[in-house]
Amino acid sequence: MKGPTRLAILGATGSIGRQALEVVAAHADRLRVTRTGHRGDDLVALATADDVDLVLVATPGMAGLDATLAALEAGKRVALANKEVLVVGGHLIRALSGGAGERLRPVDSEHCALWQCLAGVGMADVARVTLTASGGAFRDTPLSEMAGVTPKSALRHPTWQMGPKVTVDSATLVNKGYEVIETHWLYGLPYDRIDVVIHPESVVHALVELVDGSVIAQLAEPDMRLPIQYALLWDHASGPARRLDLSRALDLRFRGAPDPERYPCLDVVLATARGRDRRALIGLSAADEIAVERFLAGDLPFNGIADVLRRGAELVGGPAGGDPPSLPEIHTIDRAVRLALSDAAVATG
Ligand code: MG
Repeated sequence: MKGPTRLAILGATGSIGRQALEVVAAHADRLRVTRTGHRGDDLVALATADDVDLVLVATPGMAGLDATLAALEAGKRVALANKEVLVVGGHLIRALSGGAGERLRPVDSEHCALWQCLAGVGMADVARVTLTASGGAFRDTPLSEMAGVTPKSALRHPTWQMGPKVTVDSATLVNKGYEVIETHWLYGLPYDRIDVVIHPESVVHALVELVDGSVIAQLAEPDMRLPIQYALLWDHASGPARRLDLSRALDLRFRGAPDPERYPCLDVVLATARGRDRRALIGLSAADEIAVERFLAGDLPFNGIADVLRRGAELVGGPAGGDPPSLPEIHTIDRAVRLALSDAAVATG
């Protein structure tokens, strides 16, 4: 008889890692954690170890890129919770995995929802897909007050409990821009067929519009244990996630596309992605890690983040359509942008 799936969790102490351990505890007959790790070079060794079948990549930032590629190359299955990995290396991941599927399982409520909505649907029948966004901590803050918002208030997400980087990225909607890029690489959809709408309740996670006008949506309580469990088990087993109770009144609101004045960072991410300049996206991703750190440290105002992203993209952007960057080149670009932006901070600070 086949034993439990042997799991490596990279980023075991973060929000996703901790919730994954709850899922594993609820399914001890099917899942067993054989390796855990946090950062540094050991991640590649953990991800490719002989006693690992499935690697949950839940490290923040681009720290999980090498381990994700190494795991796929070693024939492991990967449950990917790290958005930056696809933002900077989507072309490499897609070449190895072919996109979302049993070997590459998205751990994100929106992409898990898309996977479910697309079951049994041919991609030729898909007119467009829509990702929902709660709108983050400042969805209802008057625009005149955006300049003075604090790190403490940015970390108060209206619907999701997450780590600090992704919570600030949710307030700027950089997170949603990254999810659009992930959708592009996971499902092979062009950017002009991927939409974002503000949906404050975070109950509808994604929608798929078919060419005949039919729209399929996935609904669930905002509880990451559901997409984590789906990615780990790859089926709909009963589990610990909260259940949607439709016996009580529930208003679902859709407020249309995000306001570019409130969310300038989303526009920067999407414009960079649509420009198809992959080096610029790597620069933007490095710049965002620095910008979020500086905002949380009180060294950068919230409405200064978009400019840092733009600078990160411009520092390394070039003519689009060149050879896609290799893994060593991705690291070189990432390091160059971090260095340039930290020098700039010293020069101006
Ligand atoms: Mg998400």
